[in-house]
Amino acid sequence: VSSTEAPARNPKKLCLVVVDGMRPESLRQAIDKGAAPNFARLMREGYSSEECISVFPSLTPVATASIVTGRGPAEHGIPSMNWYKRDERRYVDYGISFPSARRSGVISVLKDLVYRINQEHLSASTPTFFESLEKAGVRCACTTYMIYRGPHEHEFAGAGIAGALAGVTGMARSGYGPTDLLYGDIFDSLGTECSSAFGVPGKRDQHAACAGIELVLAGNYEFMLLSFPDNDNFSHRNGPDSQHVSIAHADSQLRRVIDAAGGYRRFMEEHAVIVVSDHSHSLVTGVLDVVEMLTDLKWDVLRPRKGRRAHDAEIAVSPAARAANIYVLDPVHRGGRLPLLVEDLRHQEGIEQLFWLEDGVAWVAMGGSELSFSPGSQYVDQRGQEWDVQGDLVVLDLFVNGRAIRSEEYPDALARVWSALHCPGSGDLIATPELGLEFVDWGGFSHVGGGAHGSLHKVDSAAQLIVTGTGEDRKDQETWSIADVNSLVLEHFGISSER
Ligand SMILES: [Zn+2]
Repeated sequence: VSSTEAPARNPKKLCLVVVDGMRPESLRQAIDKGAAPNFARLMREGYSSEECISVFPSLTPVATASIVTGRGPAEHGIPSMNWYKRDERRYVDYGISFPSARRSGVISVLKDLVYRINQEHLSASTPTFFESLEKAGVRCACTTYMIYRGPHEHEFAGAGIAGALAGVTGMARSGYGPTDLLYGDIFDSLGTECSSAFGVPGKRDQHAACAGIELVLAGNYEFMLLSFPDNDNFSHRNGPDSQHVSIAHADSQLRRVIDAAGGYRRFMEEHAVIVVSDHSHSLVTGVLDVVEMLTDLKWDVLRPRKGRRAHDAEIAVSPAARAANIYVLDPVHRGGRLPLLVEDLRHQEGIEQLFWLEDGVAWVAMGGSELSFSPGSQYVDQRGQEWDVQGDLVVLDLFVNGRAIRSEEYPDALARVWSALHCPGSGDLIATPELGLEFVDWGGFSHVGGGAHGSLHKVDSAAQLIVTGTGEDRKDQETWSIADVNSLVLEHFGISSER
């Protein structure tokens, strides 16, 4: 759908609240316990969806880039939480875990996470909403958020030991963001006293609230992105069933910002609010070591920090929670090695699905079954995209009714897989583990007993959306993707967007 007329500009400011990894079912529990009164009120006064579908892989960097640009990974260029960058012959890691960061190099991880994802990895041809809005004269503000790219230069703000250390390691660089950027201890355009305590999990929401309060008191922004990341870490450690605790915490931190504006009613007289989670969480009961699995199968796997000797190894492997990218290193051998990889992995215990491209067509295998698909005319999915599909529909739990095609278990499966496989940084093969399992990362780290995400499955992918005081014309929209948040934001300010 593309809107041709420019929508009317909503006179209110807009506050976009992102709660990392918030599971809709857990939000409902928190609300039922009376522990999330602000989210409850926003929901009551607006409209919401518990099936706002994440991208694939359903991982924060990929999802964040989609929220901010409105595009899938094929266009925005962020393939995963960690991936192999062919032109630099190295593993990129946005900080999947501390043990993994130690293997990749902590400084390199910090540079990837803070700077390179914004300045190098995110495609220059997909503008962020900060860029689109600032260009249209809308003043934007952002608290610590993985993707903040915008037109304004911000100097490194680090002080004390962290600042000195940053100077030595090359971390003290400029960032380019919206007019106001309050990012951890790194950028602070308002010169606040907010301390991020080095971004320790559990202390991040309070920093975001501190930054949000300062922004409300300064009163200059028209669009503010307020990001609450603690829920994701809490759920990773304690499991998705405990999320009502961290959701309650996010709700109370949002309340601090609301109170700075004079309470809920005053805040809502001035603001429209969108709340979104970037993905959901599933419970991890066991692990799968895909690197070990491939090594046992006699594949020569590239180890982290061995980039310059990449030609020695056959494949690179980037295990990221519930999705893994696998790269054939020598393009000359791709055609020969990819089928061998597929045959080796498809019957391995614990592997659920394999995804790859062959002759311009996407393939999905599950055990001995497989299907292939590509854009075409045979079927139309719930979001209006048309596809040709051949093979065993069970592989993606696809159901056909006339020309309509849909999947219950793997929502928006065809478009999400297609986009993932067309991201230039994706592996030649993407693998997902069965529900309940997680790939251990390069640091040997996993979340057994806790939560994880990344797969195409609904349990990892169905996120929460709440829209209050804006986007009235879209309240009957049948399906939602987290990428739709971009157009909701732009339309609020009277900017039409290609949906
Ligand atoms: Zn996570």
